[in-house]
Amino acid sequence: MRLKGNTRRQILKWVSASLLSIPVSKALSFSVAKAAQENEPIVPFNLRFKSDERERIFVEKESDLIRFAKRLKLGKTSFSIQSSGHCFAGLSQNQNIVVDTRKLNKIVFDEKRQRLTVGPGTRIGTVNAVTSNYGMALPAGYCQTVAMGGHVCGGGIGILSRSFGLTCDQLLQVKIMTADGSFAVANNETNSDLFWALRGGGASNFGIVTELVLQTHRVSDLTVVRLSGRHQPHQLAQWISAWQKVALRSPKELGFQLYCSNVDGENIEILARIISNGAKNLAVDAERMVSKIAGLSVSYSSTYTGSFLEVADMLWPRDYVGSDYLDIRSDFLAHALSPTEWYDILISMVKDWRKRVSFSMEALGGNIDRISNEETAFAHRTTAKFILQYTSRLRQDEPNTARIQAVKRLQSSFTPYTTGGAYYNYPERDRANGLTAYWGDNLPRLTQIKKKYDPENAFNHALSIPVGK
Ligand SMILES: Cc1cc2nc3c(=O)[nH]c(=O)nc-3n(C[C@H](O)[C@H](O)[C@H](O)COP(=O)(O)OP(=O)(O)OC[C@H]3O[C@@H](n4cnc5c(N)ncnc54)[C@H](O)[C@@H]3O)c2cc1C
Repeated sequence: MRLKGNTRRQILKWVSASLLSIPVSKALSFSVAKAAQENEPIVPFNLRFKSDERERIFVEKESDLIRFAKRLKLGKTSFSIQSSGHCFAGLSQNQNIVVDTRKLNKIVFDEKRQRLTVGPGTRIGTVNAVTSNYGMALPAGYCQTVAMGGHVCGGGIGILSRSFGLTCDQLLQVKIMTADGSFAVANNETNSDLFWALRGGGASNFGIVTELVLQTHRVSDLTVVRLSGRHQPHQLAQWISAWQKVALRSPKELGFQLYCSNVDGENIEILARIISNGAKNLAVDAERMVSKIAGLSVSYSSTYTGSFLEVADMLWPRDYVGSDYLDIRSDFLAHALSPTEWYDILISMVKDWRKRVSFSMEALGGNIDRISNEETAFAHRTTAKFILQYTSRLRQDEPNTARIQAVKRLQSSFTPYTTGGAYYNYPERDRANGLTAYWGDNLPRLTQIKKKYDPENAFNHALSIPVGK
């Protein structure tokens, strides 16, 4: 059975949709290249947490940080570190001081060793553009305006994660200014405890990152099978359940992401992508298998083959930010759900349709869980099969309590199937199980490393790692 839908309109609406799938709004789009040249405050991605700082310190070279370190040593300096302002929870915003590292945006590619040296202000789009000249790629997130500063040390999940692992798994070395004002180099041999922490523990808990060295990988053309439509919960439940089953048994060269939102009192809108790194038929066959297991297919399907850069640009244009007022939360699913379980979730979404909510889901596994949860600070490898992100667009200058409650209801409909963990790069300020959600059993070790490198807790914010006892 082939489902019907008003597909053309949906395709246009989703033309620049990413994992977050926020439609392009010209009014809010923002030229990164232009802003990077100006000494303007960065427009944050989540306008809900926008705050005007008293002072912005632009870091153009490491000596600028040495001057700041003297102030840091005086203690009680409230500040945030910022590279792009993309943090969902506004952790890079501050009313007092913002240490702005966007101008530390160098990028050097070592062709022989296929290694990349970048500054924290270097954007994913710049990395993609440079590495693609050599037929190489860094596995990183979809949004090309995200910067390396926050992204890499928080984890980094994107198109190539199942193929090659998280962005933090590609780290070979980090240079970071710690609380005593010195610059530490962290790698497998030197400051290896700090290096462990910086692979999933978040950079701004330990210092100000000034340079990252990362391994890149050779990529051939990618194929994207794209499906979209508007369907009733009983039909979609079958399809999503089949999609999950296929994702779990697929080779690591295949990536799976989907996005669902409630649009009216009867239907859910879906956009799904199966992306193969290499052989085109892998993605096409996977889509056929999903439809076969489900006994139906979603209404519009297209197949596109292009270079890694072309696909990255299709998923998220290189200069697009898309700032908005948002409530965003995350969870990890421990396993695939049955059609009945999906039906219950989708029905509750449909019932809530007046409070628009959406979720995105991406398959993990592949090279992400080839190592244990303890091998780096990123604690969601062997226990998590899918990552979920819930979003609601809020209204400016309104309490928005009902909309936030709707996101929480959506989140709680998934709770029986989740690991209890959450992704630190998608932070929530009011997460019920607090920091344990982000780091699980790795939290005690992180607090000890925090104690060693930042005993006075100079680097603190709403979700920072506490200093161990
Ligand atoms: C539209 C959008 C799409 C996204 N898509 C993905 C995705 O596909 N996959 C994924 O994994 N993530 C994704 N993210 C999340 C993204 O990885 C995080 O928001 C990340 O923390 C952004 O880092 P940043 O430096 O660009 O942002 P900022 O807001 O500048 O910083 C984020 C955090 O990093 C800290 N930080 C920044 N620079 C430094 C530095 N030099 N030293 C120390 N700490 C620093 C800040 O203090 C803050 O805590 C997305 C975010 C957005 C807004």
